[in-house]
Amino acid sequence: MTTTMGSDMSTGTYDVEALRASFPILGREVNGHPLVYLDSAASTQKPREVIDAVRDIYETTYANVHRGVHRLSQEATTAYEAVREDVRRFLGAEHARECLFTRGTTEAVNLVANTWGRANLGPGDEIITTAMEHHSNFVPWQMLCEATGATLRIIPFDERGVLDLDVYDTLLNERTRLVALAHVSNALGTVHPIKQIAARAHEVGAVVFIDGAQGAPHMKLDVQDLGVDFYAFSGHKVYGPTGIGVLYGRLALLEAMPPWHGGGDMIESVTLEGSTWAGLPHKFEAGTPNIVGTVGLGAALRFMERVGLDAIAAHEQALTRYGQARLAEIPGLRPIGTAPDKTSVLSFVLEGTHPNDVGMILDEHGVAIRTGHH
Ligand code: PMP
Repeated sequence: MTTTMGSDMSTGTYDVEALRASFPILGREVNGHPLVYLDSAASTQKPREVIDAVRDIYETTYANVHRGVHRLSQEATTAYEAVREDVRRFLGAEHARECLFTRGTTEAVNLVANTWGRANLGPGDEIITTAMEHHSNFVPWQMLCEATGATLRIIPFDERGVLDLDVYDTLLNERTRLVALAHVSNALGTVHPIKQIAARAHEVGAVVFIDGAQGAPHMKLDVQDLGVDFYAFSGHKVYGPTGIGVLYGRLALLEAMPPWHGGGDMIESVTLEGSTWAGLPHKFEAGTPNIVGTVGLGAALRFMERVGLDAIAAHEQALTRYGQARLAEIPGLRPIGTAPDKTSVLSFVLEGTHPNDVGMILDEHGVAIRTGHH
C-alpha cells in the first residue's frame, strides 16, 4: 500500500485511497518524503478505529475487570469479554472460551510448551517443527525438549521455501507427540498446507500447534476447517495494539491442561492448604489482563472484517505479484522465497550491498523495510 502504487494498483476489492486515509500515520513524512511503510510483517500501523477504541475506553469505561460490582467494572468486563466473541468469530472457533488472551504469539507458544508440553512429553517423545520457524516458535520447543528429554525433529525446505512433505512423512511416527509450525513463514512468506499437515499429524495421534503470527493478518481463518489443535497470533500484527495476542486451543485439550501462571482471577478457591482452578478461559489468564489492548484488538478484528478478509487477501496477492515483477527488473537482485503459495513478504539480497545499507538508503526516501539476518 504505497503512494505510488495506490490508485493504479487498485484491484477493485476496496477503495485504497479511503483505506489509506484511515491510517493517520500515513499522513506523515519521513526525511521529506511521504511515509512508505513496508514493515507490516514486523508490526502493523493502526487504523483510526483502533486508536479511537483505545482512547474511548480510557475516557468512558475504564476499570478493572471481573472484580467490581460497580458500573464501570461491569462495563469494562462486558467490553473485554465481548472481544473474546470477536476472536472466536475471527478464528472460526466453536467456543469463545477456547480463545485465551496472551501477550502475543511468543507468550502463547511458551504457555503451551510449559503446560501441555510439560504434562505430556517425556524421554523418547518427539516434536516435529521446520527449519523455517521464527525463534518464538522454535526456542520454547527446544527448551521443552531439554526439560523433558524429548527430541526435536526438523522438516527441511527447498530453494523456493517449500517444505519437503516427503521428509515430514518419514519423520512422523508413534513417538511424535507434537507438530509445531508457522501458518505462514515470516522470512519467506510461504503459506504451508496446514490442513494436510494437521491431518497427517493426527493419523499418528500428534497434537498440532500453529504459529499464526503471519497467517492471521493475511487470510480468512477457520481453525476447525484447518483441523488444528492450537493456533496463536499477535494483536500488533493485525492492526491492533502491542502486548495483546491470542491462543486458541481445542476445548478438551485446554480443559485437561494445568495452569501456567498462578495469581488472581485464575483460581476457584484458595486455602492455606491448596488452591483449585477457575474454569476456562480464566484458568490461563492470571492477574489483571491487558484490558485496553484487548478492546483495541476487538476493534482491529472488526476493522479487518469490515474491509473483508477475502478482499485483503486478493489485494495483497495482486500487490505481491506486482512487487515480484518490479523487483525482478533490478539488476543483481535475488529474491529469497519464491514458493507458489505465498503472502506479501518480498525478501531479497542485492549483490554487492549490505542489507543495512539498502535499508538506510531506502529510509532516506521515506521507505521503511526490514533488513538483517534471518
Ligand atoms: N512467529 C512469527 C512467524 C512471527 O513473524 C513473529 C513476529 N515477528 C512471532 C512469531 C513473534 O510474535 P510476537 O513478537 O508478537 O510475540
